[in-house]
Amino acid sequence: MSGNESTKVVYMDNNATTRVAPEVLEVMLPYFSDLYGNPSSMHTFGGQVGAAVIKARKNIASLIGASPDELVFTSCGTESDSTAILSALQSLPGKRHIVTTRVEHPAVKNLCETLDTLTGHKHNVTQLPVESDGTIDLQKYEESLGDETAIVSIMWANNETGVIFPIAEMARIAKSRNILFHTDAVQAVGKVPINLAEVPVDFLSISGHKLHAPKGVGVLYVRKGTPFVPFMIGGHQEHGRRGGTENVASIIGLGMACELAVGHMEEENTRVKALRDKLENGLLTSIPNAMLNGHKDQRLPNTTNVSFEFVEGESILLHMDRYGICASSGSACTSGSLEPSHVLRAMGVPFTAAHGSIRFSLSIYNTEEEVDYILEKMPPIIANLRAMSPFWKSSHQGRVGKSQCKCEC
Ligand code: PLP
Repeated sequence: MSGNESTKVVYMDNNATTRVAPEVLEVMLPYFSDLYGNPSSMHTFGGQVGAAVIKARKNIASLIGASPDELVFTSCGTESDSTAILSALQSLPGKRHIVTTRVEHPAVKNLCETLDTLTGHKHNVTQLPVESDGTIDLQKYEESLGDETAIVSIMWANNETGVIFPIAEMARIAKSRNILFHTDAVQAVGKVPINLAEVPVDFLSISGHKLHAPKGVGVLYVRKGTPFVPFMIGGHQEHGRRGGTENVASIIGLGMACELAVGHMEEENTRVKALRDKLENGLLTSIPNAMLNGHKDQRLPNTTNVSFEFVEGESILLHMDRYGICASSGSACTSGSLEPSHVLRAMGVPFTAAHGSIRFSLSIYNTEEEVDYILEKMPPIIANLRAMSPFWKSSHQGRVGKSQCKCEC
């Protein structure tokens, strides 16, 4: 990133990671100093730490309508995803078909694509396509399931567009066919209500740092009765489901973050959503050739993904960074070439627009003043970059139209 010429930070990259809530930090601190016992120890000193872990487990379970003993603490969302998928494949060795989507996070997508090398067995992975608004066709989903299907792994909400999938319905369909169902709910937990008493998933992944708890702690929900094979083999922790001494302070922080999330859910879906909508409408109306990526309504309340045609997402981010504005782009610079995100490609977003996509993801810590600041800075940033863009110039001189542009640079 270029040097930030401003000391101001306007953080709208909460799908990448969130700030640790002050209340979370406060409850964690004693576990780095006075309360350093091992929660598995027999003595009272360790026992009081164990009691705090039990309380955190209850708070986390209550946010998602689960029972505390259905939770397994992990190190992150990625570990939770791997554990669920590998567990299903090991507990059903005769079944080697997996159904997932083209828009999953790399934690699921890359795992599914490397399963053969990892396990030494041939797998058949169906990556379901999505519609142009990022939603899924339920009929295609249903048709993809077969007798060989071991597990379905479909995210609750997409990290890039915020699009929400109908997990309850898809899980019911899988259950009726006796197929295990995993959902990566890393972006959904804490932002939208989840009640697992009504959604028959077998596995659900959570990551602490997406909901104002620290990085390095995750949870895998495993429904009671679901066959389970541990990923981390070691001690007896987590009732033998995940070896390794617990990341106590972070687990306690996550417990507090979940307690706070219950109280903040309404604000997330009213004030934060209104701020997101103001930002989105402002960008779409003040900047020509700007378009929304993803379904307008079937979406997380905090996320908007907007494409600014004929400019490079990374250049936009560099200019935003000068004003202290933090967001993400839908393209990642790989080996010198800018590759648009697999999510936007799966949605069929044209290259000229996918290259210039920016994701803003808000949290309860954002203010209207920050939205106004971004709305003031963005139009000149885009206009200046377009003034230097040969594609913009030629499209506006009628030489290359959006539909004709074959740019794959
Ligand atoms: N799944 C989704 C949808 C995500 O957005 C992320 C992180 O961006 C992950 C999984 C991985 O989570 P973690 O960083 O905790 O491994």
